[in-house]
Order: sequence, then structure tokens, then C-alpha cells
Amino acid sequence: MNILMVGAGFSCAVVARELANAGHKISIVEQRPHIAGNCHTERDGETGVMVHVYGPHIFHTDDVEVWEYVNRFSTFKPYVNRVKSTVGGSVFSLPINLHTINQFFGKTLRPDEAKAFIQAQADTSIENPRTFEEQALKFVGADLYEAFFKGYTKKQWGCEPSELPASILKRLPVRFNYNDNYFFHRFQGMPEHGYTALIEGILDHENISVRLNTAFERGMMSTFDHTFYSGPLDGYFGYSEGRLGYRTLDFERFIYDGDYQGCAVMNYGEERVPYTRITEHKHFSPWEEHEGSVCYREYSRACGVDDIPYYPIRLVEEKAMLSRYVELAESAEGVTFVGRLGTYRYLDMDVTIREALDTARDYLRALRENTRV
Ligand code: UDP
Repeated sequence: MNILMVGAGFSCAVVARELANAGHKISIVEQRPHIAGNCHTERDGETGVMVHVYGPHIFHTDDVEVWEYVNRFSTFKPYVNRVKSTVGGSVFSLPINLHTINQFFGKTLRPDEAKAFIQAQADTSIENPRTFEEQALKFVGADLYEAFFKGYTKKQWGCEPSELPASILKRLPVRFNYNDNYFFHRFQGMPEHGYTALIEGILDHENISVRLNTAFERGMMSTFDHTFYSGPLDGYFGYSEGRLGYRTLDFERFIYDGDYQGCAVMNYGEERVPYTRITEHKHFSPWEEHEGSVCYREYSRACGVDDIPYYPIRLVEEKAMLSRYVELAESAEGVTFVGRLGTYRYLDMDVTIREALDTARDYLRALRENTRV
């Protein structure tokens, strides 16, 4: 089969590789001048530091097959994501853990005491939290919510936490011990030569060709047997049902001679600080040595027509438009929608790869069984 893929991020790269291994010919069009989508990494021209151009990406998973898959294409270096948050003139440890609780409330609680203390603050009248705010009030109570989540989330999402789904906060654990690893997953690490090199490895197959700087047009599809599309779902349908909301990010780069903040990610919980966080990229590659440092102040705002979409917003009240697009996608012939933008979901890299592997297998099975895909 001759197959068209739109976008050269993880989703299409993984589907392409699986289909190429099975003998199919894959043409990928990518509108940007580089592969790897928002995972793209490159060396900073001034400092030589490997930069996560579109914001930090830390690989973490519990999925053994996905972990083995990425390790086939890159050496992974051990990396533990430890995030700090500056609030009210102090630096705290995230995700909320025993150190955060003791420091924030000026206490020396042990785990059981901290659990009881936080439970006493939590709003127990909320049974099934629907929104981000309800989830926070139920699990950490008003004080921690207001310090660490309310302002940050308003900056990050541009709306009230009461309008956002609870699932966003469910990404973050609360721990009653001193474990400050941001993630629970068994496997965590950073590709030694960056994500772009990793995805380059996935795409390195004689049956795969990639055209950069090439915007997708629906007319391209007619000469192919099937299309996998990882661009924005609403864009594919010409925004016929309206525009799905995305957030985009602006990065303000600055250079520092030495170590600027001593860690990779410093969040700023307060609304009055205009940026959400500062990332210092050399700390994402702790096995490398660099004298100079490059940092990004990260600002979030509504995504305009010509901006790069980052986060699908999925407002609680916006489900109707999305479900119309999902219906259109399900009935569209000859095309499969994949990935964060193609399915309008907030996906981590490991989930993206898992879904791409499953999508490729389903497609190959359907071909073998000669059923419609
Ligand atoms: N969040 C917050 N304060 C923080 C970190 C996160 O309020 O210091 C909220 C915010 O709404 C964010 C969500 O928790 O979107 C999930 O955080 P995560 O770190 O998973 O977000 P990511 O940066 O990976 O998108």
C-alpha cells in the first residue's frame, strides 16, 4: 500500500515504522522545517545545551513494550523529574509531598498525621469531583489549592479551574512521604541525544520518506491508499463545527553564565507572576557539562489561527463541538486520526506511542482480514 502520513511527531513516526516494516510505502508530510513535532530538541547555538524547543518533555511510562520500543532507537539516560514551585517568597517541592506540607504549614508532621491534617482541610461534601477545582478542594483543601494550583492553572489554561475537567489535576499525585519524583511510573529517562534523534531513528527505514516544509492539503490524499493524520482534528474538517480551543506557549529565552536556578523546572504558582515556569535546559541533560546556561520563561495564551497548538483545552462545557468532530472523524473514509492534535486529547508521549503501535496493528490486521479501515 502507498500511505500518506500527516505530521512527523511520535504518532505518525511509530505508525509509519510499523507499516514500513510490513512492506508498505510511507510518505510523510510535515509543515515545519524539522521532525519530532513538539518533542523537537536541538542544540542551542550559543551554549551548546540540548534545548527542548517546545517545552520540557520527560519520558516516563509503566508500559514495558513502549519502554523497550524507545530504547531500541536511543540510549536513555537516567532522569528523575523533580519540580519546584516558588510561592509567596519561598521555594517548595512538587508534587505536593510531606516536605511541601510541612514547609507550607510550618509543621513536622509524620505521614499519618499529615494525611489526617490534609483530610481535615479537604472538602468532604464533594463526592464525585467533576472539575479541576472540585478535585483540588476534595484532595488537598483550599490553602494548598490556592497556593499551588489556582493561580498556575489560571495562567496555564486561561480560564477558571472550575471550568476545567478534573482529569487535568488527576495527573498530579499527592504524597504523604518525602518522595519528590514528579512521576509514579517505573521507567523514566531522557534520550541521550534528544527526542529528534530518537524520532529520526524511528523514521530511518527505506520505505519511509519525509517531506519537511510541506503543508497538508486534502487533495494529496487521492493518490494514496490511506492517510494517517496527526494534525488538528478541527483543521482537517475546515473548522466546519467551529474551532476547538487550544493553548499555545511563548518562550522568552535568556542566557546565564553558570547555573541560574539549580533545577530544570521552577514553577511560579502565583497569578501575579506572568509566566508559569522557567526551564533551565542543561538540567534536562545532567550527564553533560556546560559552563553557560539557557533558560526559557514560559507564557501560556489562547492559540490564534497562525499559532502552534499545544494543549487541547477540553472545557467541561465544550464537549458538544468535540463530539460532532468525533462523529465526523469516525465516518470519514480512508483516513485515521492519531495523536494529541488528531484526537484532541492531552496525551503523554508513552500513551501516544502505545496508541500508535495499537493503531498500526489494527490497520495491518484489517488489511489481512480484508475489512474496511
Ligand atoms: N498545575 C498547577 N501547578 C503546578 C503544576 C501543575 O496548578 O505547579 C496544574 C496545571 O493546571 C497543569 C496540571 O496541574 O496543567 C497538570 O500538571 P502537569 O505538570 O502534568 O502539566 P504539563 O506541564 O505536563 O502539561
